[in-house]
Amino acid sequence: MRVEEAHQALDQDLADYLEGKGVRPSCKAGCFACCFGWVTLSRLEGEALLPHLTEAQKARLLEEGPRRLALLAWGKDQKDFPSRFFRSRTPCPLLEGGLCGVYPHRPLACRGLLTEGDPAFCAPEAKPPQGHFLPVPWRMARLRMEALWEEERARYGFLLLGELAGLLYLLLRGLPEGREAVEALLEDLGVLGGRWGFQVV
Ligand code: SF4
Repeated sequence: MRVEEAHQALDQDLADYLEGKGVRPSCKAGCFACCFGWVTLSRLEGEALLPHLTEAQKARLLEEGPRRLALLAWGKDQKDFPSRFFRSRTPCPLLEGGLCGVYPHRPLACRGLLTEGDPAFCAPEAKPPQGHFLPVPWRMARLRMEALWEEERARYGFLLLGELAGLLYLLLRGLPEGREAVEALLEDLGVLGGRWGFQVV
């Protein structure tokens, strides 16, 4: 399945589920607290996004990518790293004027994070009640991710997962060929493995 097909399939699954259950997400344009989060995506999803990036978006990724990689090298084994990053309110470099600048092409991880609760609980400082983020849409997104991971393994012989800005930066710069070379690059950058680092599996 192509990445675009996975996105469309998830959107349809979500629409069917939300309608069937009578769930009305409170997520709306201009609400972007979740875009401060530490978003992970796969190489295939990143590669599918590249042709849709504007020159300004590429420039921001080329600037922000090295910063994220350095931050990850510093914090990838710290238990609370993602929550500390979230509280730093560092926006996704693809966020533009409070809107996702790649909305039709945004990753599965962004599509699957929904709430029907008070958006105030999405803020980095908030303590959301259990179930604030809807579990079923997230599981649906995760299943689509896993299908793409298999696709990526079949295409490249290994799966590469990493933080959105850092991974897109590396893809813009061009990844070396083969698993060993990719692992060596990530090792050099200090971002391979650990609790929150890039995964090559
Ligand atoms: S890709 Fe779009 S939806 Fe996802 S975190 Fe970035 S700005 Fe937000």
